[in-house]
Formats: sequence, C-alpha cells, structure tokens
Amino acid sequence: MLLIHTVSTNPASSARFAQRALSHAQVLAKGGRGSATEAEKQAAEYTQLQLKALGFEDVHFQPFLGLRSIWLFFALAFGLALVGHAAFWFLRHPMGIVPALIVSLVAFSLSGYILWCKFSFRDFPLRTTLPHAPSQNIIAIIPPTGEVRKRLVLVGHLDSHRAVFWFATDYLVLLFAISGVVCIYGVYLAIPLYALAVLTHGQVFAWLGLVLAFFHFLGWFTGVTADLGQYSPGANDNASAVGTILALAERLKAQPLQNTDVWLAFTGCEETGCDGLLALLKEHRDMLKDALFVDFELVGIGDRLSYVHDEGNLRRRSIPLDVEAFVKEVGKPYGLHSASTPLIGASTEGGTLWEFGFKAVCFSAHHQGSPILPEWHRLTDTADRLQVDTLERVHALTWDLLQRFDQG
Ligand SMILES: [Zn+2]
Repeated sequence: MLLIHTVSTNPASSARFAQRALSHAQVLAKGGRGSATEAEKQAAEYTQLQLKALGFEDVHFQPFLGLRSIWLFFALAFGLALVGHAAFWFLRHPMGIVPALIVSLVAFSLSGYILWCKFSFRDFPLRTTLPHAPSQNIIAIIPPTGEVRKRLVLVGHLDSHRAVFWFATDYLVLLFAISGVVCIYGVYLAIPLYALAVLTHGQVFAWLGLVLAFFHFLGWFTGVTADLGQYSPGANDNASAVGTILALAERLKAQPLQNTDVWLAFTGCEETGCDGLLALLKEHRDMLKDALFVDFELVGIGDRLSYVHDEGNLRRRSIPLDVEAFVKEVGKPYGLHSASTPLIGASTEGGTLWEFGFKAVCFSAHHQGSPILPEWHRLTDTADRLQVDTLERVHALTWDLLQRFDQG
C-alpha cells in the first residue's frame, strides 16, 4: 500500500503540538540546568522518560566528559593575555626589553592559539586544567515507513547558561558584544603593538597595548567571577527547543516519514562549547555525514523566525548554499529570514556542524526590530514568558520542512 502524507501543515495540529512543546518547556525550566551538572542530567532523564512514554524502545544515553564552565576557559585565555601584558611592562627592567618582549609574545601567542582552537571546536593545550564532569546526550531514532533513503537530525541542547550580569539588559549585551570583540581580537593585536613599541621606540604603541590590558583584565575578571552567580532557568534558551523536538517526536511517531530516518539529538554542554554535539559526531560521523541537521535555539519568544546565515568568532562560517535555498523555499509562508550572529558569543551547534563539513540549519525566533535574542542567558528566562504562538510557527515550519525533505 502506498502511504500518502499531506505536505501542507494542519494548523489545528500545530497548535496542539505547540501546547505540548510548551508543557515540556515548563517542566524543564523550573530551574537552571548548568552544563555537566546534576540538573542537566535530570533534564536528560526527563527527555528520556518522555521518549519512552511515546513508545521509543531504544533511547540511547550517550555519556561524555564535558567542560563545566566556558567562563573559566575565558579566565584562562585572558589570564594568559594578562601575563603577556605584565611581561612587557614589568620584565623589561630586570630582563631587558627584548627578552621581556619575547616572553610577552609567547604568552599572547598561547592565548591566541587556545582561543582559535576553542572557537573552531578543536582540542587545545591546557584543556585538561579546566574542570570537566560527566554529561550526556539523549538520542532516539524514528525510522521511515519505507526504505531509508536519507537522514535528518533534530538538535536541541539541554543545558542552560550562567546568568552573568553582562546579559541582564539589552544595553549590557551590546556593551558585552563590543568589549568581547576588543578582548578576543585584542589578543592578536597586542602582538604587533608591543613589537612595534620595541622596534620603533614609539611609546604610543605601548600605551595602546595598555588599553587592551584593561579589556583583558575585564575579560579575566568576568571569567573568574562568573560562576559565583546562578544559572539561567533557560526556558527560551533552550527548553523551548527540547520541548519543540519532543512535540515533533510525538507527531512523527504517529505519522512517520516515508524515506527519512529522523534522529532526535538532545545534547549536553552546548553552552560551554558544544562538547555534546562533538561527542555525537565522534560516535556517528559516518552514519550522519550526508544528513541534514536542523538545530533549534531560542524558539519560544518573538514574532519573527530566522535561520542563521553566518556565525562564529575568529572563524566565520556560513550556511551551505543548497541548505539555504531549501530552507528559504520552505520558510516563505512563515516569513523566515536570514540572520547573522555578532562576532562575540551566540554561536550555535549549527555552526559547529558547518565547521566539520556537515549540512545544517539553525532556527531561532526574536522580536521584530531587535537583533538581541529574547531572554538570552538571563535570570528572567522563565517559562511564563514563552509564547505559544511562536512555538506553533516553529512547529509548523519544521513539520513542513520534514515533509518537503522527505518527498524531495
Ligand atoms: Zn542556546
């Protein structure tokens, strides 16, 4: 018998499944879910239980060791930069200017190297000096009714971020974005500035280096103090995504696709650098090399839907052209538009996938006219702020995408 699936979305169904997504997000966002913490594990167990209740027999719990704090990483990187500044200013009298410069440049180079490795999702020196703890991914598969012709992976992270004061208001987020860019690129800029100060005897270069030292102190200080605060409840970031995928799983279980193996990946430790996704790729790289990954980030608030066009610090990455053409077509009725993340922060698992040559798209929602993602990393990211209308549009868009991908 030939099964015919309806391609157009049934609005009544979308509304019902959006309500299901909201219910899951409400449970998950009762408290913060820090990366590699007990609370993150409980969120994973909740997800696992829900999938089992939906009739998934084989729900895979993938353990891995994840970084606990991205802020301690920044403390390490900018701490090394501060060593570079200190060497230039304090060692030149006891050691001489050239040896002081050499020590300074070594420290900046190491700082720059570990930043580059982290932002391109590669292993880096001194990584093991940072605290790691057990974390996990939850993975389930919905096979098609027919032969497996293609694969699609729905991705949403389980953890939530520290509600660091930089995220508390839109104004501070803007200030954070600017300072962050100066901090990161300043590590590389300090090298020619101090070298020119020595080579040309131009004091102005040395003073400019000192200005960067102020920003590096700010970055280091934020890094060492950030973990004193609480975790964001993470309703929008990213319980909205986990709820959305659970609701899609429920619908797909009842109406599986014909040709597409749909994987559900609920990942740990996204907020500290996507360790969960990297663990998933390590184990399933060959199986998923041709799959389309659909990642969800903050999909519960706002009247506009967007896909990330490009993102990344130090290494900018873009959506593959064929993926973009496909999502643009599917997204037309939903007013889907392209967005770029700022140079600081705001990277997604979609960008990690691009880095390693996978096909991926990341969807998110926001308010019209505001480039700042609603409630991003804030203590006020609570479930009562989620908007069921937004979840409904995201669900409908993804449902359409699944049908088109399956039939295409
Ligand atoms: Zn997120």
